[in-house]
Amino acid sequence: MSGKAEKNRLYHVLEVTPDASDAEIKKAYRKLAMKWHPDKNSHNPEAADKFKEIGHAYEVLSDPQKRQVYDQYGEEGLSGEGGMGGGMSAEDLFSQFFGGMGGGMFGGGGMAQQGPKKSRDIVHVHKVSLEDIYKGKVSKLALQKNVICPKCEGRGGKEGAVKKCSGCNGARVKTMMRQMGPMIQRFQTVCPDCNGEGEVVSNKDRCKQCSGKKVITERKVLHVHVDKGVKDGAKVVFQGEGDQGPDITPGDVIFVIETKPHPRFQRKDDDLFYHAEIDLLTALAGGQLAIEHLDGRWLSITIIPGEVISPGQVKAVVGQGMPSYRHHDHGNLYIQFDIKFPPNYFNDIEKILALEQILPPRNPSGLPPDAMEVDEVQLEEIDPSQQARATGNAMEEDEDEHAGHGGERVQCASQ
Ligand SMILES: [Zn+2]
Ligand SMILES: [Zn+2]
Repeated sequence: MSGKAEKNRLYHVLEVTPDASDAEIKKAYRKLAMKWHPDKNSHNPEAADKFKEIGHAYEVLSDPQKRQVYDQYGEEGLSGEGGMGGGMSAEDLFSQFFGGMGGGMFGGGGMAQQGPKKSRDIVHVHKVSLEDIYKGKVSKLALQKNVICPKCEGRGGKEGAVKKCSGCNGARVKTMMRQMGPMIQRFQTVCPDCNGEGEVVSNKDRCKQCSGKKVITERKVLHVHVDKGVKDGAKVVFQGEGDQGPDITPGDVIFVIETKPHPRFQRKDDDLFYHAEIDLLTALAGGQLAIEHLDGRWLSITIIPGEVISPGQVKAVVGQGMPSYRHHDHGNLYIQFDIKFPPNYFNDIEKILALEQILPPRNPSGLPPDAMEVDEVQLEEIDPSQQARATGNAMEEDEDEHAGHGGERVQCASQ
């Protein structure tokens, strides 16, 4: 291409006249894109260029704004938009038409992001208790959304009363050019004739139900299935339940499952973790432990006499974890033991003597080596702030981090 491009060239590429309707342009593009697709013309090396050219022409003429600029200023006016080869590729446009029909008939192509405008997806975090995930449930959630006005069927007024704005040709904005020294600057401004509506309708013909807005707000209740064992972050998608509007495809409503923190159980994949505090006697000599499960059952656990549980030790109850998603096999329940030592109970010489009879002897490594210089020192009680410092900086940082997470959660909860 050299010099000034031929007038109305893009219309000629699509073999339509400059007054062709959007539908005619779309139809012409489909026909030509089919005919010139490189996969169907492997013997013809010119087909790929031709195909690209068709894609470019369609990219411009199918977009009311770009078409307006082209009609007014020709291809020069479009140069800021990338022109040939820029923006959406011909393949993308192609898949936009045919992708839905046979899923990538010609391979590749990628998902079309442009094309018929899609309303924004509505994403909502759905907080669910661990109990509900254990048992499964259906949440009924109400949603406010825009739907096409049933009275005027999305026209905004009486049949024929709504006219495309002649000022912007329905594009809602007008592209202006102005000379700035040696440069021509293009800029867009909201169309003053229609206040950016793209259409004009007289007050008396305006739809009473939607006041010409074409959509009304409706409350809709969605049944969100929280499946047994569903993972944190899983999405429940209601396709096409988003806002409706004239000439747009409704987006989706997406619920993201978020598990509320549980006071007793932590979940890791299909396993559950639980902290159990047992007394020293139970740890050493056995006893009973009862845990209320997520479905309200109680698990009764016997610590066998002679088993001896150490502080921090973890044991598993097989098959009492979470149900796995879809299959409902259960993971394990891991119990970590904290041992509560009796305070000031053994400060009685009789009991100490009795313990010395029962427990294994004291560890001799508690004495310093012979013939070394030894200082006798004393243990003192400390207060909680000293305790925090003494257990190390690493732990303090840890605590700060926890505080941070906690803060965020509270914010989420209050939204
Ligand atoms: Zn209406
Ligand atoms: Zn206008």
